[in-house]
Amino acid sequence: MVNVEYDSVEKRYGDTIAVEDIDLTVEDGEFAILLGPSGCGKTTTLRCLAGLTEPTSGTITLGDYDVTDVHPKNRNAAMVFQNFALYPHMTVRENIGYPLKVAGIDGADRTERVQEVAEMLEIPELLDRDIANLSGGQQQRVALGRAIIRRPSVFLMDEPLANLDAKLKLSMRSRIKVLQRELDITTLYVTHDQEEAMSLGDKLVVMNEGHIQQIGSPDEVYHEPKNRFVAGFIGSPSMNFVTVEMDESGVVRSTDGVDGFEYGLASSVAERYRDHDEFVLGVRPQYFTAHTEPVDNAIRGQIKVTEPQGDNQIIDVLVGDEDGDSIELTVKAPSTVEAVRTEDIWLTIDDPLVHGFDVRSGDRID
Ligand code: ATP
Repeated sequence: MVNVEYDSVEKRYGDTIAVEDIDLTVEDGEFAILLGPSGCGKTTTLRCLAGLTEPTSGTITLGDYDVTDVHPKNRNAAMVFQNFALYPHMTVRENIGYPLKVAGIDGADRTERVQEVAEMLEIPELLDRDIANLSGGQQQRVALGRAIIRRPSVFLMDEPLANLDAKLKLSMRSRIKVLQRELDITTLYVTHDQEEAMSLGDKLVVMNEGHIQQIGSPDEVYHEPKNRFVAGFIGSPSMNFVTVEMDESGVVRSTDGVDGFEYGLASSVAERYRDHDEFVLGVRPQYFTAHTEPVDNAIRGQIKVTEPQGDNQIIDVLVGDEDGDSIELTVKAPSTVEAVRTEDIWLTIDDPLVHGFDVRSGDRID
């Protein structure tokens, strides 16, 4: 069993807390994604496991061993970096085989394993090429090959697709997923791209400002976000947030003085928020329905911008007075809705799917 366990890991640089209270278990063979905005501590968390950064306090266990003070070379962790970090003066064959050479594995055994890895990554024809002549995607496959050839117990990847163009990113994404499943290696993968995270991970670890905000499956973090940060970070376009108060009959109104943001929630939904004088209502863009004619119980707004997306469109809707208090809502609607700039639009909400968040703590209420 090669599971990974972080126990109260903290890393400080002088007064800067890079990460704090990191408690995380990644099970044997699991694909875990560390996800969060720039500077939230993802790389620091990964580097602590690789042994490239020494935690200020806490322990890290790999399998049955406490590796907190173990030299990086003796951790059996392989890391793939964003910039590939290949040896430019060596061929593909030499790069992939390098970890075996360092480990003293020579001759036929090394040749055979390099061939096996190259076939797995579908690059055997590149083995005798120089690194400098390869495309970004090919270089990344060589970097993956060099990482897996040692059969590490844990695979660490720090934004490995960040330098690839959009199309290559997609094909490398599925290749990494298949490879991880085939090799069944416990994997920790850093990205700030939530779409990449959702498509790759068994387990998402959402971080912000040095702290873990939520650990869960892609479905859990999307449908049951623990707090407002996770709700806003996961999902594109982002969830809309409006601070509201609710009256006896379940009608919510914006507390920011925005005229027109008024909506009657279904009684079963309103029930969830009865104990809260004020709360933040969270609505994903696709949970609005856009109507081009007035309908009952709808929020009236004005179309600011539309962005076609094939079958769908993203509509920016201004609610309130443009020169006074107003809010902008992002709405995702089918492209068949005839949304014309500056015209009025009426929004209803698929309200069983909304969330409520505590105004102060940001924790999800429902
Ligand atoms: P990015 O996505 O931009 O790479 P990240 O989430 O990986 O960011 P880290 O690189 O782990 O974030 O950094 C976390 C915090 O620790 C940041 O505030 C960063 O400035 C700080 N930090 C990281 N390394 C050092 C260092 N060597 N010295 C001082 N501060 C550091």
